[in-house]
Amino acid sequence: MSKIKTIAIVGAGVAGLSAAIRCAVKGHRVVVFEQGINAGGVSVSWNRKGYHFEGGMHWLVGSSPRIGSIYRRWKEVGALQDNNPISFQDPVYVYRRDGVCLNLWRDIDKLEAEMLEFDPSENKATKRFCRTIRQAISFFCAPGNARELLLKIVRTPVFALKLPGILKKNSGELTSMFSNPYLRGLVNNMVDPEQNAISLVYTMATFLGGDSGYPKGGSTTMVQNMLERAESLGVEISYRSKVERVLVRDGRAIGVRCNGELFPADDVIVTTDTVRALDTMFETPLKERWIKKLHVFKNPQTCMFLSLGVESELEGLHSGLRIETKYPTNIALTEHKSLWISIYRASETGYAPEGCSALTVILFGDSYDFWKSARELGHYKDAKEKVADFVIKVLENELPQLKDKIKVIDLATPLTYERYCGNFRGAWMSMWPKGVLPVSVPATCRSVKGLHFAGFRTQLSGGLPVALNSGYKSASAV
Ligand SMILES: Cc1cc2nc3c(=O)[nH]c(=O)nc-3n(C[C@H](O)[C@H](O)[C@H](O)COP(=O)(O)OP(=O)(O)OC[C@H]3O[C@@H](n4cnc5c(N)ncnc54)[C@H](O)[C@@H]3O)c2cc1C
Repeated sequence: MSKIKTIAIVGAGVAGLSAAIRCAVKGHRVVVFEQGINAGGVSVSWNRKGYHFEGGMHWLVGSSPRIGSIYRRWKEVGALQDNNPISFQDPVYVYRRDGVCLNLWRDIDKLEAEMLEFDPSENKATKRFCRTIRQAISFFCAPGNARELLLKIVRTPVFALKLPGILKKNSGELTSMFSNPYLRGLVNNMVDPEQNAISLVYTMATFLGGDSGYPKGGSTTMVQNMLERAESLGVEISYRSKVERVLVRDGRAIGVRCNGELFPADDVIVTTDTVRALDTMFETPLKERWIKKLHVFKNPQTCMFLSLGVESELEGLHSGLRIETKYPTNIALTEHKSLWISIYRASETGYAPEGCSALTVILFGDSYDFWKSARELGHYKDAKEKVADFVIKVLENELPQLKDKIKVIDLATPLTYERYCGNFRGAWMSMWPKGVLPVSVPATCRSVKGLHFAGFRTQLSGGLPVALNSGYKSASAV
């Protein structure tokens, strides 16, 4: 190693921790500035009245050696250890509509058989869809044996030729190849239907290729593991330290200003929401060519997140449910067709008091403006109660076993995420629009030496692996 540098890292989310660990391994002095009182950023879970709610990770890409490049990196930063073995829920979820249930199996042959049996008239669409997923598995997952290696060699060029066509559609459009609404619903509930179809195909390939499990203890244990690795390498983390400015002099980053004080550094890595950072952290706007392209990142992937403490283990229900309501429901001025439900039973996860379950519901959509105006009009708390009550009514209609069993109610809105992490419109990923090539933010700036960017906004559409890889990449450029 050449010179030992002092590195200032802004943000202690997964990207910030990943960058910090890599810099420290390279022998540098590292100080991480975190505005909040905890590390982890939006990869977070929280406790309420004996219940533990997982709010920032439902699956982890790279949780098995099947996606070896990411898995090795999770291991390297200490995120995956003996204390958080991975479980692979199968089926991934049960899709339910009008009382009909279909399983999204992890085995593509089993999934195909279920779909063909359910509606033989959809033979052509089912075969076409499953063929694409098989090719995507070979393309995205590492080969495990000679047969798989051979399949990879055969399938990869075919899939590469299909990619431009997939890229032109969003997930909803890709799955419209099914005229049967139940089959369409089964495969269209993996990612937000507005996301680019690549997100759907990639995510499905990771699940059906044997990856995307859930590490025991979820966000909390994973972040704690990374934190311990960072601290064991001498990384200093300064909490309640909001960085106001990245200091630039003569075309070089020279440190940060935090809580009114200057902290000199040789390099600065900004891991907070790139969109927000560019708007607020620089005295003179940066002159980077990629900034023009960044408008495609602006559209946030965000949600309302309802957490319920339920006095029942809800036996008979699968722990991953996608329930499609008969008609779209308007909630906080956003339209919802599907309820994404996760059930964490006390006996399986320890996330609830004995005999109980922690149940969470994700409601995708950008409801930021609704909540913002509710706050400005002084109705925010009221609106939260009303929205939570309404969603509970919809839920109880679908799952009558919840009636009179809900003891804890907690609703997070896009404003909660904005307040907690400072992200633009409460984003925790970006919406990747259809027809847009997979742009990414370079790890190092050209116009300002020693300035680097990382985090979920630096690559479409974001998520934990992007946070991990971008943090690692920015540190490698130091
Ligand atoms: C409900 C939900 C479910 C999700 N499910 C999954 C999933 O199943 N799989 C998956 O891969 N991803 C999932 N994600 C997304 C994933 O959690 C995030 O994309 C990832 O954690 C982002 O990490 P990050 O470090 O890039 O950003 P962040 O987590 O936003 O971290 C940025 C950090 O910077 C701090 N900060 C901000 N401004 C400043 C400042 N001025 N000074 C100092 N510190 C500052 C913030 O407080 C924060 O700690 C989910 C997210 C949510 C909310």
